[in-house]
Amino acid sequence: MSAADTSPLFAAGSWRETPRRLAALWHRSLQFRTVIITLGLSGLAILVIGLYISFSIASNLFQDQRERALAASNNATAAAQSILESSDASDRASLQAVMGSAIEAAVSVSGSADYGLFRDPDAAANPSAPPDRLSRNLGGVISPELREQVQGDPGGQYWQSVSIPGTDGERGPGIVVGSDLEVPTAGRYELYIGYSLAEAEQTLAFMQVTGTVGAVALLALLSAITLVVVRWVIEPIRAAATTSRRLAAGDLGVRMPEKGEDELATLAASFNGMADSLQARIRELAELSVMQQRFVSDVSHELRTPLTTIRLAGDVLYGQRDDFPGPTSRTVELLHQQTDRFEQLLGDLLEISRYDAGSVTLATEPTNLVHLAGDAIESMHELARERGSELRLEAPGGHLDAEVDPRRIRRIVRNLIGNAIEHGEGRPIVVSVDSNETAIALSVRDYGLGMSEDDAARVFDRFWRADPSRMRGIGGTGLGLAISLEDAVVHGGVLDVWSKPGRGSVFRLTLPRTSDAAQVVSPLPLAPDDPDAEAPPRTRAVPAVDADEVDAQRRADDRAREVHDA
Ligand code: ADP
Repeated sequence: MSAADTSPLFAAGSWRETPRRLAALWHRSLQFRTVIITLGLSGLAILVIGLYISFSIASNLFQDQRERALAASNNATAAAQSILESSDASDRASLQAVMGSAIEAAVSVSGSADYGLFRDPDAAANPSAPPDRLSRNLGGVISPELREQVQGDPGGQYWQSVSIPGTDGERGPGIVVGSDLEVPTAGRYELYIGYSLAEAEQTLAFMQVTGTVGAVALLALLSAITLVVVRWVIEPIRAAATTSRRLAAGDLGVRMPEKGEDELATLAASFNGMADSLQARIRELAELSVMQQRFVSDVSHELRTPLTTIRLAGDVLYGQRDDFPGPTSRTVELLHQQTDRFEQLLGDLLEISRYDAGSVTLATEPTNLVHLAGDAIESMHELARERGSELRLEAPGGHLDAEVDPRRIRRIVRNLIGNAIEHGEGRPIVVSVDSNETAIALSVRDYGLGMSEDDAARVFDRFWRADPSRMRGIGGTGLGLAISLEDAVVHGGVLDVWSKPGRGSVFRLTLPRTSDAAQVVSPLPLAPDDPDAEAPPRTRAVPAVDADEVDAQRRADDRAREVHDA
């Protein structure tokens, strides 16, 4: 059994847990199940066979003992009768003497000293008839029924199972055999001889104990054999399970050992075949992916030089646009605008290919996320105003510095605010910053278009847009959120989204403050408490950010940090 299987089933204080653990072990371990089933079935078979053997031996033994007792009693009666018949005693004393010798003969022939002799109650009164005799062990043993049977059938022999004291004085099983004697001149006497079956019982008990010990030993042996055999069969299956688990975890080089030609070897061979083709396919895909990434990176680099030339030429033309006739001036402006977009797209493509190539390094420095959010809001304030949106900052926490790459975090925040402005339908936008012991978080909530659940699930895909035909106002490249997600992940953070059509969206960035990712609890909720609201409540947010206020907030934060550091 594996280490997990041998968990302390019977550890102190866990008795109540034991049935649950046994049930879990039963479901989890094929080995445990096989051993238990083998033990149960063989135990049942041994019990049935053992009981049958024990009963038939007991009954044979009893029959044998009874036959012997009947034969011995018959011989003893005959011996006593012949002594009585050969005597001519007629007075009381000589009758008693001859009766004594007859009893002695009966005792010696029967081999039992337990006897009883009673004068037939129906015989005519005779003063010289010898008195009844009863040995001590037979006192209260001979039943009236047996006596009636003997009295009612002269010359017959009857027996009865009784409880009789043995040689050690302890009462045990026995048998009493009754017959009758014809005493000259004194009439008929009943003769009872008792036999103890204690020895036979001891023999039976000994055999039963030996049988039980043998059965237990056999069960233990069977369990051990089953355990060994099952382990022998299960070990390769377990190895296959471990191997496939490692394979699934990405260790593509792992293989099962192939030994022999049996079914398990066939399993190992086909498993290894599958792993080979999987590895080859994944290698192919990886090579393809690398080629693709290199292509994107190369194309982006190659496009940079001609673009720079176009940019320079475009700038010259743009500077002189007022000198051109109307339509040409429009074309020059369009060229300038599209060159901007082209540059932005190229920049994003290069950034994405850097992430794909794994060549991104973080330039971290202590950064105040509230200030960073304030700066981003400030820089996008004009754009928001143009779209009729009011930008608000709520920062109940997060005033202490976090160790992040400010350029990347700023890019995330600007992108989120940009999207919120673009899709916010001119409604207010709330940027929140908060922190707890495990994480610092920033969320951007808009009350605009929102997205369906399916759209929200695809929002971080490259070049994905909810509505590609929508006119683009801010000029995003379709890579913004994909890059933001990479920026969050490279910080060990998470970027997630909540959205509802017609009610707006929440994008939440959570950056961990601990190395244990499992402990991270975002200080900001993802789903808002007002999912159906069309605008934030008036009192909730600090009104639109203005530069002076951000500066004042920054000075207050700096003071707070100094106090904290001190
Ligand atoms: P871009 O903004 O350049 O199109 P993004 O990756 O930033 O690229 O966004 C991808 C798409 O996600 C957008 O085109 C838009 O459809 C959707 N989206 C992003 N932010 C929001 C938002 N706040 N509200 C509604 N839709 C959004």
